[in-house]
Amino acid sequence: MDETLRELVRLRSGNRCEYCLIRQEHIPLTKLQVEHIVARQHAGEDDLTNLALACDRCNLHKGPNLTGIDPVSGDIVPLFHPRRDNWDDHFQWVGVEIIGLTRKGRTTVRLLQMNDSRRLRLRTTLRRLGQLH
Ligand SMILES: [Zn+2]
Repeated sequence: MDETLRELVRLRSGNRCEYCLIRQEHIPLTKLQVEHIVARQHAGEDDLTNLALACDRCNLHKGPNLTGIDPVSGDIVPLFHPRRDNWDDHFQWVGVEIIGLTRKGRTTVRLLQMNDSRRLRLRTTLRRLGQLH
């Protein structure tokens, strides 16, 4: 992938993960990654409409998935799409946790393990420092 394209994705996101919103400055040892929202495996392309910045945790758990299982209904639901969906429509902060407000939000929170213990510890520390959000 072209380095200019990577830089554009990074700048557009404000240098934060577009799923869990962690900022690059808060995870200095792991560089945020440019990910394909629709994976190459599913014919997703290298263009700005299909690229997002993601932390290693979100990217790892998302993998090539386009859908997940809604923990409430059990239905197969599309994942949050950072280019088409608005974060605030699907997620909300409750303390240091990210809560899914919609089927899509709940499904994405669960699949990407957005509230795993490691992330909650980091957010708790950031909150104490007044740097969460
Ligand atoms: Zn993330």
